[in-house]
Amino acid sequence: MKERKYCTFCGKQLLLKTLDDGTKEKYCDNCNHVFFPTPSPCAIVIVTNANKVLLARGIGWKHPYWALISGHIRPGETAEETAKREVYEEVGLKVSSLEFLRTYTTKDHELLMIAFKAKTENTTSQELEDAKWFDLRHPLPMRPESIAAQIAKHVFPKITYTNLKEQT
Ligand SMILES: [Zn+2]
Repeated sequence: MKERKYCTFCGKQLLLKTLDDGTKEKYCDNCNHVFFPTPSPCAIVIVTNANKVLLARGIGWKHPYWALISGHIRPGETAEETAKREVYEEVGLKVSSLEFLRTYTTKDHELLMIAFKAKTENTTSQELEDAKWFDLRHPLPMRPESIAAQIAKHVFPKITYTNLKEQT
């Protein structure tokens, strides 16, 4: 996680403050504000229909892998609302059922990813640019150690992955 050095509000250099429970946290003595190192919450969604799974790619990705649809939770939004909104915004599909799976944290501790399984009835009518339906019975082009691949494995334990070479 990136270290915060300065106060977001007044720009003053942060100090370390010992809290009542003995932990030390970054503190602005000007604003009397403690900056807890909290991860950003995101929703990540595995969209399925029968034996198909919807995988997505981000704009400008250099590697050959596909991932799942995900996005940051906006203030006032529930994780469920984020999941549905991201699927609609990214691929124009309405989710017919949404089921919470579990949560994951990224290696750099920046994100708390709240994973959902979603179903959609519509797998054919959309021209998807950055997403594609893949048959679960064939190896999937996912990076095996990624959170997206862990989620896919959690939902569909029998899946395998294609052996893709990273471009350098
Ligand atoms: Zn301050």
